[in-house]
Amino acid sequence: MKPVMALVGRPNVGKSTLFNRLTKSRDAIVADFAGLTRDRHYGNAKHGKHEFIVIDTGGFEPTAESGIYSEMAKQTRQAVAEADVVVFVVDARAGLSAQDHDIGEYLRKLGKPTVLAANKAEGMTEGVQLTEFYELGLGDVHPVSAAHGQGIRSLVEVAFEPLGLHEDDDVEEAPQDEGVIKLAVAGRPNVGKSTLINTWLGEERLVAFDLPGTTRDAISVPFERGGQKYELIDTAGLRRKGRVFEAIEKFSVVKTLQAIESANVVLLLLDATQGVTDQDAHIAGYILESGRAVVLAVNKWDAVDAYQREQVQRQIETRLAFLKFASLHLISAKKRQGLGPVWQSIAQAHKAAMTKMSTPVLTRLLLEAVQFQSPKRAGMFRPKLRYAHQGGMNPPVIVIHGNSLEHVTDAYKRFLEGRFRKEFNLIGTPLRIEMKTTK
Ligand code: GDP
Ligand code: GDP
Repeated sequence: MKPVMALVGRPNVGKSTLFNRLTKSRDAIVADFAGLTRDRHYGNAKHGKHEFIVIDTGGFEPTAESGIYSEMAKQTRQAVAEADVVVFVVDARAGLSAQDHDIGEYLRKLGKPTVLAANKAEGMTEGVQLTEFYELGLGDVHPVSAAHGQGIRSLVEVAFEPLGLHEDDDVEEAPQDEGVIKLAVAGRPNVGKSTLINTWLGEERLVAFDLPGTTRDAISVPFERGGQKYELIDTAGLRRKGRVFEAIEKFSVVKTLQAIESANVVLLLLDATQGVTDQDAHIAGYILESGRAVVLAVNKWDAVDAYQREQVQRQIETRLAFLKFASLHLISAKKRQGLGPVWQSIAQAHKAAMTKMSTPVLTRLLLEAVQFQSPKRAGMFRPKLRYAHQGGMNPPVIVIHGNSLEHVTDAYKRFLEGRFRKEFNLIGTPLRIEMKTTK
């Protein structure tokens, strides 16, 4: 499971700037797609070998008349509680404020590993101006500049030190049993996740099997269906209770993200009676960014009339346009309708995510695509695409080598993506295209 870092601090100290800085490298891989919202508070970050989830607790605004505990949004408190490490951001230029004291006290009581970051410290001589922040009693003050990207790397290092993670450690890959599809069912509360899972697990065609390494109260359920082994990952908002899954009260974005990250395939469940909500679009965005394969299912299809059905389908086309590579199913978990084809799509998405693409074939396709339509010249530069190789699976990554590739437009990348998708029949998986310019 990826560790979680929460950014906490009063408004205007630079939390969202820091958030963007931390998540930027990762986001850059995902081109801009229609419908993909960026107004999120959760993101994936990768620094050196550290991969983690960052939360920007933007809504934290303690005021004089009401206490910090009542003011802090419930979600924010939950996020901080779920974080492995808290980065407390203060404004090095504005100096220490009463609000900082309040927040500092809250964090001290919480007893979580906390790192104090003095932002906007670019061009400041260390020491002098920062000494007052030691009053907070949270240990060392780390000067950073989120806007200029200074001190970020060492901040990340320091933050993860207590977790015993070091950059030199090889990132430990969970032993991958090639034959098992790790499946997560994601979705907002009440879309019908537990109903669906319990319907599935109640089917006779499902056979439980022992997966090495899983204990009796492990948080995942191994089972077999039609000769294919699956591992159902304990999903956000759900907990296993004996033989059945139950919705837990608190929906947790962090747990959703962790479940998505540990899966090979994510079944994103929507609720036909509610349409596509912001939260649905956000979860869908996380799935795209994680690179996991995805299958969409609109549940409660039994409970909506023809008009609503058309509405929902139109919303999916517009708001979830960035997942148009995924199969869509209209189901009723309660009435057990339409469930069989979902399994076929899950297997198909998994197969696509694990596709092996040879360098000669990729290169041939690339050159054919270029011949069909060459990339636009950008000023003095005309990108020259030379060859391609596969850089990863789940999601498949295609690395293109050549010259001046930084001038290749998103539109052209999408054109290439379309060609590769068609050729390899990549239904249900994101596909990443990376450009490597030869110097
Ligand atoms: P938040 O409310 O804590 O999320 O703060 P924002 O990220 O929105 O930043 C508040 C203001 O501080 C914006 O005008 C930023 O441009 C500015 N800011 C953020 N980081 C830095 C920094 O490193 N140096 C300077 N000088 N300004 C910064
Ligand atoms: P979860 O929070 O995502 O696990 O959602 P639940 O499985 O607890 O379902 C929430 C509510 O939706 C319950 O009242 C279910 O009975 C209902 N529900 C689930 N699936 C369906 C369905 O296919 N059709 C209808 N009409 N209701 C459903």
